[in-house]
Amino acid sequence: MIRNLTEESHTAKKLIIKRDIKLITPFFIPSFSGVNDRNFISKIKYLLPNIPQRCILISAYDYYKFNIIRKGRRLFEDDFMFKIFKDRLLFLDSGGFEIKIISDKKYTINYYDKIIDILQPDFIVSYDCELNLSLKESIKLNLPLYKKNYDKIKVQLFHFKEGDIKKELSELETCLLDYSGTFDILGLIDNELGSSLIQRVSKTKHIKKLIEKNDLNIPIHIFGCSDLFSISQYYFNGIDLFDGTGWFEKLYDFKLMRSLSKCNISNLECDCTICKNVDWENITNPELENMVSLHNLVGYLSFFDSLKNE
Ligand SMILES: [Zn+2]
Repeated sequence: MIRNLTEESHTAKKLIIKRDIKLITPFFIPSFSGVNDRNFISKIKYLLPNIPQRCILISAYDYYKFNIIRKGRRLFEDDFMFKIFKDRLLFLDSGGFEIKIISDKKYTINYYDKIIDILQPDFIVSYDCELNLSLKESIKLNLPLYKKNYDKIKVQLFHFKEGDIKKELSELETCLLDYSGTFDILGLIDNELGSSLIQRVSKTKHIKKLIEKNDLNIPIHIFGCSDLFSISQYYFNGIDLFDGTGWFEKLYDFKLMRSLSKCNISNLECDCTICKNVDWENITNPELENMVSLHNLVGYLSFFDSLKNE
């Protein structure tokens, strides 16, 4: 369920309610990805139960890969997963990001469908492992999934292609009107929107205007966006949800809104609950990696609180 809290356009706050969990946007969803990550299993087992956010994003392709193909390395044991998901919202992505990098033709929408049945996520993102589909083709492909999962929040991805922006926007407008009510959130990919932040924010402004012009209540989610400066620019232009993997790849300095190399952690001035209790001078890997990730996640919570209060 998605409900508007205010009518202000640039700071439109939405309340997402599921069980007893309420998410007020803007919100950063920590996402996990196992692609090309040797430490994925140990990372997910340590971090999943400890993340402070009440919503997480995992890829159905990772579930498929670690449970079906590598039977000897079961990662997502049912007990483990259900314990984690009991008090969190689960955002499930089909795995388009992973498939783009490693290409696996055996993985199809039928597997995605089965994994949705097993995990029962709160949010399902449109299947996008078949490349180069138009938005209309993608919606048509996902319609059976949407109908079957009528009680879940559906996120339709719109892959912006390079080229004529007017044509792209016109296709989007037609689909938003023709398929109104079919999905709840529009998903855009940060790096597909342009090479500069100005281009990316400008495109989202056009899309936001288009949604408002047609009086549609559709929040926008930017996928693959962990950068603090980009998030703040997007937010002030009306974007609601963000996710990314930057929280375990980088070290964020939330006061100066920049990313640093992890080896600079002992020079970072931070008084978050993690930094206050860790001796950064004497910590060893992989504990350092885990603690930096938790510092980042705690930082995202207060960063988003300060955005909401601006
Ligand atoms: Zn800290």
